[in-house]
Formats: sequence, C-alpha cells, structure tokens
Amino acid sequence: MPDPTPDIAANLTSIRQRIAAALLRAGRAPDSVSLVAVSKFHPAQAIVAALEAGQTVFGENRVQEAAQKFPPLRASHPALRLHIIGGLQTNKAAEAVRVADTIESLDRPRLADALADAATRAGRTPRLLIQVNTGEEPQKSGIARAEADAFIESCQTRFGAALAGLMCIPPADADPAPHFAWLAACAARHGLTDLSMGMSADFETAIAHGATSVRVGTAIFGHRPG
Ligand SMILES: *Cc1c(COP(=O)(O)O)cnc(C)c1O
Repeated sequence: MPDPTPDIAANLTSIRQRIAAALLRAGRAPDSVSLVAVSKFHPAQAIVAALEAGQTVFGENRVQEAAQKFPPLRASHPALRLHIIGGLQTNKAAEAVRVADTIESLDRPRLADALADAATRAGRTPRLLIQVNTGEEPQKSGIARAEADAFIESCQTRFGAALAGLMCIPPADADPAPHFAWLAACAARHGLTDLSMGMSADFETAIAHGATSVRVGTAIFGHRPG
C-alpha cells in the first residue's frame, strides 16, 4: 500500500476549508463545528498521519477495534479525543466507558443502565449523545422518533450535563435535510447543544442545519480497507 500520509493531510485541509465555507454560508461563527475523523478499519498509521496534520478528534464504530488502536496513541498525543459512534452492545458498555471521551450511540434504556453502571465503577462519565433513528429504519441503531422525547428527559435526569446532545444517520437514499432539521428541533426543545450530524456525502447540508460536529471518514482516509 502506498504511504497514505500526504493524502490524509491534504484531505484534512480540504475538509476544513469546506467546513469553514459552509459555516460562512450559514452565517455561523467560524470554528463552531468540530470535525470527527472516522478512522474505522484504517490502521494506526493512518491515525498518526492525521494527528501529525493537526487532527485530534477521531471516531470509531467498534469498541474492540478502538480499544486496540487508541490507548497506545494517547501517551504520545495527549490532546487525542475518541468518539464511539457505532451501535453499542450492552456487554461492551464498560469497555466503551474506559476508552471513549464521547459515546454517540446511546439509544435505549438498557444501554443507559449499563453505561450508568460502568460510569459509576469507572469513576468517570464520558460525554453522551443520544442517537435517534430519524428514518425509522429497522436495521439501524437509534431510539425511535416517537420515543425520543421521553428517553432524552430520562437521560438528562440520570446523566445531567454529561448528556450533551443528539446524533443521527439519515437513510442512505433519502434527502438528509429534513432529518437534520428534525434532529436540530428536537435538541432545541430539550436545551441540548451538541448536534452530531453529517458524513462525507452530506456534512455541508448538516452544517446548514446547525450541526456542531460532523463525522467524516472516506473523504479523509479514503475507502475503507477490506
Ligand atoms: C462510518 C461512519 C461515518 C463516516 O462515513 P463516511 O461516509 O465514510 O464519511 C460517520 N458516522 C458513522 C456513524 C459511521 O459509522
């Protein structure tokens, strides 16, 4: 495989410019969006290349993979922050709490129980985002729209300020704009400030709808191996 370093640095520059332009078009403050570089399936050397290009926030969707790749990098890069962005099994909650700074896939009461337990035992609570299945897709993680308000309220009571916001992944074949708008309105209703929405194909649309965090993989690291 060719050395991916130059491409990753150039890709990051280009994504940062596109984020800045989208913020400007939306009349929003510069630097009001955080870029989460989604490194799933990519080797540690790709993450190191991104770190060397100034990227500090990363997303992984499998706890096991994240637990292998990230702890060794933290020693040399103390600014590194890891987000778990994939559907989370209850039996992985403890490990997720150990490795993650933010967990974006809180989506059901039993997982809230497991995370609360794990946080008590670990003595720390990661930032938590509730994933909403805005497209009501049966195969996708996320709390149903109809159950979102009650679940958000119960998590706010339980986790306090650690419950920071909402996340969604619109259906692949749909116009994402109404999904982003719905999520933003839902967050506003509950006084939640963090909105994780937008990926390689639609992050500019997400920024127009108020995203405070975008999760970009392919446009930074290229197509995922395997
Ligand atoms: C893989 C993944 C991404 C990144 O998707 P790209 O299209 O490669 O940018 C974003 N969010 C989640 C939840 C993912 O699993």
